[in-house]
Amino acid sequence: MLERGEVANSWRRERWESLRLLTPNWQSRLPGLPYEGPDPDGYMTAADVAELIDRFAARTPAPVRTGTNVTSVRPADDGYHVTTSSGDMHSRAVVIASGACNLPTVPDFASAVPPNVEQLTPLHYRDPAGLSDGGVLVVGASATGVQLAAELRRSGRPVALSVGEHVRLPRTYRGRDVLWWMDASGVWDQRHDELDDLARARRLPSPQLVGTPERATLNLGELASMGIELVGRWATVRDGIALFSGGLRNVCALADLKLERLLDLFDDWAGTEQLGGDVDAPERFAPTETPDSPRLQLDLRSGEIRTIVWATGYRPDYRWLDAPVLDRKGQLRHDGGVVESPGVYALGLPVLRRRKSTFICGIEDDAREVVDHLASWASRRAASAITSSRLQNANRTSVRAASASS
Ligand SMILES: Cc1cc2nc3c(=O)[nH]c(=O)nc-3n(C[C@H](O)[C@H](O)[C@H](O)COP(=O)(O)OP(=O)(O)OC[C@H]3O[C@@H](n4cnc5c(N)ncnc54)[C@H](O)[C@@H]3O)c2cc1C
Repeated sequence: MLERGEVANSWRRERWESLRLLTPNWQSRLPGLPYEGPDPDGYMTAADVAELIDRFAARTPAPVRTGTNVTSVRPADDGYHVTTSSGDMHSRAVVIASGACNLPTVPDFASAVPPNVEQLTPLHYRDPAGLSDGGVLVVGASATGVQLAAELRRSGRPVALSVGEHVRLPRTYRGRDVLWWMDASGVWDQRHDELDDLARARRLPSPQLVGTPERATLNLGELASMGIELVGRWATVRDGIALFSGGLRNVCALADLKLERLLDLFDDWAGTEQLGGDVDAPERFAPTETPDSPRLQLDLRSGEIRTIVWATGYRPDYRWLDAPVLDRKGQLRHDGGVVESPGVYALGLPVLRRRKSTFICGIEDDAREVVDHLASWASRRAASAITSSRLQNANRTSVRAASASS
């Protein structure tokens, strides 16, 4: 196992200070390491996650070579030539587990933002103290955006939040964590080959969830009541002016509708399973209130906004992968983690095999199936190598026999 930094590098280097997992402790488990602490319904800090992964790494028999940056993997000599910062190696198979969130996704028009406005992404954001005083525009209202907008508002700054497509979820439903429902009802186990629109499922943003001791819901209504200004999806920049879509009400209505459908599904499942007194009565939540006429323009030259935080998502970084396995958008072409190049596999990508694939608790099931595939590919390969070497030996013997008789 080659790791460019330390074990759990992303949790040590690429997370903001206040981050807590949005998955509850009982769910944030690794194979053989269930949560055994005093607070199963709490949420881990990034440091807790790093400690969990450290413990797992110490238990695994696989050697972990830290401080080893992979700079190239290319097909060569019946396998792959791997170049690293600590030397080269040859490998028959490669499992790409380099993460789904290595680089921030920032729209091209960011380059048209006037220079008086600072820009940063969550990979470099640490806490509000690291930002200049003054207004902040947070772009993106999924898990990262809503958390950072709330934290920045609490620091006393004026905050505007640009809202595009998002997934609204309450923190708890019928007395249980909403992720308990996702898990127990089987939604998280829905398989990639059973989804109607896999490409869309893979593009879905993370849910609006935050892990707090109070198990509080952090939705757009909460943010608005904190004094955060909601604006529509940021469409472009023209002459230093940010232009927002007028569809804020529609994207919120769509998220409300999808939430209703999900809760219906949970209720149906609870009825079938006869959960009865194990859960509270069904609930429904008020539709998201949106401003009557949200701002459509914001002059970035005016000084009103000093910082833009791009919470517009993340993407993997495959600049080191010298094999023709990426699509036009730079995404890995794979079927359930089986990449088009023989012996190359992937783990930890969105809906790789299941809806839960990118969550800590989701890797185990995927890994088992991907590794099974790899093992049977390797044994088929070994068997065909034995057959072809036997054939070669048999050919040599018959050639020798033929030359002896002549
Ligand atoms: C902000 C944020 C919050 C999240 N919150 C949750 C949550 O609450 N609950 C949850 O279950 N999941 C959460 N996730 C998802 C979480 O990242 C995954 O569950 C988990 O970390 C995935 O592990 P991974 O090993 O696949 O990827 P990563 O944790 O990204 O690890 C990939 C590793 O590969 C290394 N690497 C990359 N490129 C190279 C290279 N060229 N050479 C050598 N090494 C390389 C990196 O240094 C890194 O250590 C969150 C993700 C983000 C970004």
